[in-house]
Amino acid sequence: MIAKAITLLILFGPVLLALVGAWEFSTSPHRGELWYKLTIAAFLLVGIKLRLYGISLGFHRGLTHKSYDSYPWIRGLFLILGCMSIQGEPVRWATDHTEHHRHADKEGDPHSPEDGFWHAHMGWLIEHHFDRPINPTFKNDALAMKISRWTALWSVLGFAIPAALGKLVGIGWWDGLLWGGGTAVFMANQGTYWVNSGAHTFGRRDFATDDRSTNFWVKGPIGYPISLFLAWMTCGETNHNNHHAIGHAANHGMFKGQLDPSANLLRLLEKAKLVWNVRWATRDDIERRQKELTMTPEERKAEALQRHLERETATV
Ligand SMILES: [Zn+2]
Ligand SMILES: [Zn+2]
Repeated sequence: MIAKAITLLILFGPVLLALVGAWEFSTSPHRGELWYKLTIAAFLLVGIKLRLYGISLGFHRGLTHKSYDSYPWIRGLFLILGCMSIQGEPVRWATDHTEHHRHADKEGDPHSPEDGFWHAHMGWLIEHHFDRPINPTFKNDALAMKISRWTALWSVLGFAIPAALGKLVGIGWWDGLLWGGGTAVFMANQGTYWVNSGAHTFGRRDFATDDRSTNFWVKGPIGYPISLFLAWMTCGETNHNNHHAIGHAANHGMFKGQLDPSANLLRLLEKAKLVWNVRWATRDDIERRQKELTMTPEERKAEALQRHLERETATV
């Protein structure tokens, strides 16, 4: 009962804070002033983006899929930023996500729209008991385990830091907390939830994977800006069909027009020698995988044999 109440508070608390934020804004004596509007917009955008870089590069591409290696302080920083989204402990998030890939849109997938769009979006979290045993791969990751143990602290810091900054820059601690904390958490989480619901329902399928994953893309004067905004906001995570096709790839945006801010940041970090062993999917990898997914099992076997023979010849 208590666990259920806490789950509901975590899931819907940010929604409430976002509504209070909107109310605060409409009644604020500063609402007509440009500096005030720009400051709260900055709190909101930075609050969303830092959290979602944390989810994308910390929880997802870093911890779950091991798409790159880095120093503990960089891995730790991304994981802590991800914790500020209040999506739970990194090691449990990674465990759930591994199950999602293992069973994508089949029996055992924790969040598939096969069980209803709302279930895939948020419903699964309400029903979730958060007691799934942690996958041993993540249990053996000492840094991720250490950061996971302090998830509550990082979550609270995600509210305390914007509150302190709000006081410092003159919008007040309450506005800082509402925009850089509550509203940013609400928006960031809706972005992540959309990957599980929308990016398994609407959009392009550049790879013929055996699940429902899509690269979220809706056409039209309203569709284009929404698609681009969600790709940008989630740091490229809505290119989800590409990700289901080549799970370990550090780049999720693989085709023209697919925004992937996380891959762009990884490229910069790689140049600065702050990340290494980045598992980029090359044009060849992408084309080979596209072909492989449309082959019959016999064709796939013949192709694997051919590749094996080529490798053997090359080593002689
Ligand atoms: Zn994944
Ligand atoms: Zn998926």
